[in-house]
Amino acid sequence: MGADQGIEQVFDTLPEDQRAGMMELLDGLGQQGITQVSQRSREQILRNVALSGPEAAAGVATLVGLTLFITYGAPDPATGKNLNWEVFGYPGPTAASASAPKTIAPLAPEGDELELEADVCIVGSGAGGGVIAGSLAQQGLKVCVVEAAGYYNESDFDQLELSAYEKMYWRGGPQPTADFNVTVYAGAGLGGGTVINWTNCLRTRPWVREQWAREHGLEGVDGPDFDRHLDAIFERLSVNDRCSDLNGPHQRMKEGADRLGWSFQTILRNADESCYDPASAAYIGFGDVSGSKLSTQRTYLQDAFDAGADIVVRCAVERVLVENGRAAGVEGTWTDPESGRSARVTVRAPQIVVAAGSLESPALLLRSGIGGPAVGLGALDNWSSDAFATTPDGSVIVGNTSSASGTSRVCTLKISTRPFCVGRPTVICRSNRPGRSKAGSRTSGRFVAASTITKSVCVKPSISLRI
Ligand SMILES: Cc1cc2nc3c(=O)[nH]c(=O)nc-3n(C[C@H](O)[C@H](O)[C@H](O)COP(=O)(O)OP(=O)(O)OC[C@H]3O[C@@H](n4cnc5c(N)ncnc54)[C@H](O)[C@@H]3O)c2cc1C
Repeated sequence: MGADQGIEQVFDTLPEDQRAGMMELLDGLGQQGITQVSQRSREQILRNVALSGPEAAAGVATLVGLTLFITYGAPDPATGKNLNWEVFGYPGPTAASASAPKTIAPLAPEGDELELEADVCIVGSGAGGGVIAGSLAQQGLKVCVVEAAGYYNESDFDQLELSAYEKMYWRGGPQPTADFNVTVYAGAGLGGGTVINWTNCLRTRPWVREQWAREHGLEGVDGPDFDRHLDAIFERLSVNDRCSDLNGPHQRMKEGADRLGWSFQTILRNADESCYDPASAAYIGFGDVSGSKLSTQRTYLQDAFDAGADIVVRCAVERVLVENGRAAGVEGTWTDPESGRSARVTVRAPQIVVAAGSLESPALLLRSGIGGPAVGLGALDNWSSDAFATTPDGSVIVGNTSSASGTSRVCTLKISTRPFCVGRPTVICRSNRPGRSKAGSRTSGRFVAASTITKSVCVKPSISLRI
């Protein structure tokens, strides 16, 4: 499979200390004779080494993760397919990249420096930054959006997992937390997470809005004004329930729900019906080649650009400038990945919006000395865990227990999967309401395959940020 060469290439990109650590681990495994023993013994050696300490555990987890990733994800350059895909019936990419013009023209520094002025500077162009940019620019404000990652559209999407991770995901793909209990994903690029997300659109639940108002003192979020904002966003994103199809496993889930008398709803999605293509829908986590996904790149950021906003991509903002106790601008470094050329970018603006996502916004504030000890407190994550079951006809049901209500916190979930017997598919539905970690509620209308969340343990896994 060439996984060994792939891993070598990845190691070459690591910072020197991490690379040295991984080489030391490989030497240690070699000394234990890992290449000469049976598979069972090899697995035992890995387990023993991982138990010897947190650093060794981190190294083994990285090695195993990378090996699996490359073995199952990397395509053979000759065929464009991975040999394993045929074994489990995965077709690989089914559509080629589309020829789609890039309709936003980002500014690029010509020399070593770029200085811009704006009424509002927005750091990050995802779900939050994009909507704010489009709305403010259309109201006549001079807006500047600064985005750390690149600009990718349908002409770049290739339905391949590894290249999507590399280009459009935070830190190049799934990142384990320090305790390895949780894997974190986020999007990165013009449009942020909205370019690679799954487009499920849920109105913020009333209990979440009440919590925001009650616990965080946010005004206007628990009343009708907020509903009007949600309506406006749903309209701009053409949110509808007509761009979802039930595949075999979904059908089984629906049948199970019908038999149990449970409600079943088709998810709402921000998708353009005129070009929606069910065949490419399963790949939208790698970008949507059909062009149906209405990301902020294709909606609000386009609105912002059309209304005269300046947009800079590949510019990581390092700090918010503070003058006389007030935010006065931002500065960062722009880099051209092709040539390696870099430039200083300064945007001066009296209003700064930090919308760099829940992972990088706290890091930017800390680097800037803003916010004090409150920064990052109460960070919430949208967790999901998969569970698998097989049905008598051989379908595999993959259930995703996503915290779709947006109320979850970063927790380790102890999941006890029931023994799955062929012929006994079970479907349960769980509520994501705070305080309810037991399966069985019918209120949320989301289905997961048979898994019971028995206990949630908040161990607060940590994610290391670059400050
Ligand atoms: C695989 C996946 C599937 C998902 N599916 C759904 C779904 O179906 N429905 C749903 O509602 N949500 C979904 N989400 C979550 C949703 O996409 C995010 O909640 C949302 O995008 C967060 O918006 P944001 O603006 O906070 O951050 P993001 O959209 O993450 O945008 C932050 C942007 O800031 C940039 N940035 C970071 N640091 C800097 C810096 N220093 N300088 C400049 N720019 C910076 C990043 O590159 C990024 O582009 C999914 C997420 C993922 C990863």
